[in-house]
Amino acid sequence: MRKFALLLSVLHVAIAALAADNAYHVSIDLTKTTDRRLNIEVTAPVLTESDIIYSLPKMVPGTYSIYDFGRFVEDFKAFDRKGNTLEVTRIDTNSWKIQNANLLGKLTYRVRDTYHASKTDNPIFEPAGSDFQPDTCFVLNFHTMIGYFRHHTKLYYELNITHAPQFFGSTSLVDRDNSETQDQYIVPSYNEVVDNPVMYTVPDTAHLRIGESDILISVYSPAKTATAAGIAKGIDTLLQAQGKYLGGNLPVSKYSFLIYLSDHEGLTGGYGALEHSYGSMYYLIDGTDEALSSTVRNVASHEFFHIVTPLNIHSEEIANFDFDNPKMSEHLWLYEGSTEYHAHSVQVRYGLISPEGYLSAIRQEMNEAQFGFNDSLSFTALSLGALDKYKDQYTNVYAKGALISMCLDLKLIKDSEGKYRLMDLINDLAKTYGKDRAFQDQELFDKIYSLTKPDIKEFLQDHVIGGKPLPFKEVLGYAGVDYTKIKTESSYSFGGFGVGYDPEAKRLVVSSLKNLNAFGRTMGYQEGDEILSVNGEKLAPADFASFRAHWLKTVKDGDKFKMVVLRKGANGKTKKKTLQAKVFKAETSTYNLLSLAKDPSPEQLKIRKAWLEADNK
Ligand SMILES: [Zn+2]
Repeated sequence: MRKFALLLSVLHVAIAALAADNAYHVSIDLTKTTDRRLNIEVTAPVLTESDIIYSLPKMVPGTYSIYDFGRFVEDFKAFDRKGNTLEVTRIDTNSWKIQNANLLGKLTYRVRDTYHASKTDNPIFEPAGSDFQPDTCFVLNFHTMIGYFRHHTKLYYELNITHAPQFFGSTSLVDRDNSETQDQYIVPSYNEVVDNPVMYTVPDTAHLRIGESDILISVYSPAKTATAAGIAKGIDTLLQAQGKYLGGNLPVSKYSFLIYLSDHEGLTGGYGALEHSYGSMYYLIDGTDEALSSTVRNVASHEFFHIVTPLNIHSEEIANFDFDNPKMSEHLWLYEGSTEYHAHSVQVRYGLISPEGYLSAIRQEMNEAQFGFNDSLSFTALSLGALDKYKDQYTNVYAKGALISMCLDLKLIKDSEGKYRLMDLINDLAKTYGKDRAFQDQELFDKIYSLTKPDIKEFLQDHVIGGKPLPFKEVLGYAGVDYTKIKTESSYSFGGFGVGYDPEAKRLVVSSLKNLNAFGRTMGYQEGDEILSVNGEKLAPADFASFRAHWLKTVKDGDKFKMVVLRKGANGKTKKKTLQAKVFKAETSTYNLLSLAKDPSPEQLKIRKAWLEADNK
C-alpha cells in the first residue's frame, strides 16, 4: 500500500509540473500508420539555450548492446511556436542540432518499426524494439520513437496515444484519459519513458495476485493458439513461489508481462525478453498454452527476479544511465548472474523441479562456461568490457555468472550454519541501497565484506575480481554433492561432435569438433555439416536426443552407422555427403558430473536442506 501512495503523489507532482509547461508533450496516432511508419510530434519544454541537441538513445539498460535507435528516424523537422521551420542539422546517427532553440515549439518526424528492419544491419532484439501492425498489434518501446534534449532527461513526459477503439494498451503505466480511443500516460523522466513499454492489441489479458501486488498478463498470439488465461495458469505456481522466495510481498504494487508471440524467430535469431522495473516484454515463438508454458516459465522466472536487481540494488551507471554514451558497471555477476541463479533456485526450493533436475541445470551452465567462454577472465573485467572488448564473452553472465552466485550462496549457508543465504545478503543490500539510492560501482564489494565473513572477501577477490576457476568440488561438497570434473571411459557414441541448430536451414548442424573421439574421426565430420538423416531416418531437431538415447540402448560392436549431411565445398556450393563407419567403443570424456552423495554427514545434510528446500512452502 505504501508503494501505491507513492505512485499517487508522483502523479500529483506530474500535474503541477505539466501545468508549468516544463515538460515534453508527445503525440502518436496509431490509426495513421503507413508502410510500418508512425508520425511522432513532440511539443518541447521551455528551453533557454540558443541551440540544442535532440537525441534518440544509443543503447538502453538491460540490452548490453549498442543499437543506435536514431537509425529509424526520418524526415526530422523543427518548428518555432508560430509554426515557422527552424534550422536543423543531423550531427550523428542519433542526434539533431536545432538552431534558435529558445523559440522552439515542436518537432515532427517519422519512425520505422524495428521488427521489419534488415537482418544483417545490426538488428534489434525484439523485446527492445517496435512493431507497427495497424490491424493487429503495436509494440511500443518508446525509446525507439521518442528522444530527449541533451541535459533535459529529468523532465516530465506526457504521452498521448490515439488508437483504434478495438485496441487496448497493456502496460504498468496508468492511463489518465477515459476516452475509448485516446490514452494519456505521464512519467517523470526519460528513464521511465524507456522503462515502460506498452503493447496495443485486441485485448487478451489475465490477472494474478501475488501478496498485495496485481500482475497483468497480456498476450498477442497471431495464430490464437495461446491465451493469456492459459499462460497465467502456467506461471501462477512459479510466481507464487517467487513471491515467497522474496519474502511474501513484492517490491512493486503492479507488474505486467507483455507477451508477443510470433511464428518465426526474431531478427537476431532467437527469442527472449527484456526486464523493466514494473514489467517485462517478451518475444517468443507462438504455440499452444501447454507448449509455451515451460518456455514462459523459464524466461519469466529470470525476468521477474530483476525486480530485485537492478530495480532495488544498482550502481550509479544504471541510476543515471547515459543514453548518449553508455558506461558499464562491473557488477553483471550480480545483475544478471544472481538473477539467473535465483530463477533456477526458486524452482527446486518450491518443488517445481527435482534436486536431480536442478543439478543437471547447473551442469549445463558449467559446460557452457567451460567450453563456450574464456573461463579465466576476471568477471568484473568482463562486465566493464561487455559492450566492446569482451562483447563475445557477455553471455557468460548467464552461465558462469549464475555459478558465482551458487558458490556464494553455499558459502554463506555454510558460514551461518544454514541461517543466512544469498537472498538474505541481497535483502540486506536492498535495505542500504534501494530504487532511489544507487551505490558507487567500487563501493559494493566493501559493503558486502562488511556484512559477511572473511572467506567471502577471499572468494570474491579470487574468483570474481580475479580469474581463478570456481571451487566447485569444495563448495558443492559442503552440501554433500559429489563433483567430478572429467570422467573418461570407453563407450558408444555418435562420435562426440557438438550439435547446434541452424535457424535459417531449420536443421541440426555439427557445431563443434572439440571433443571428437576416435569413432567421430573415423566418421569424418566437419564443422558446419547440416544433418539430413541418421541411419536413414530424417530427424526433426526435437527428436534428436530421444533418437540417440534409444540408439545407445540397442547398439553393438560392428553395427553400421550412417549419416547423410549437406556440406559446403571450397567453391561455396553445398553437396550431399554420406558418412559411414562400423560402430566401435571409443574413449569418451564427460565433464562436470554432479550427483547427490549417498551417505552425507549430518552437517552436509543440514546445508543441503538450507540450500535446496524452502522453509515457508
Ligand atoms: Zn536478465
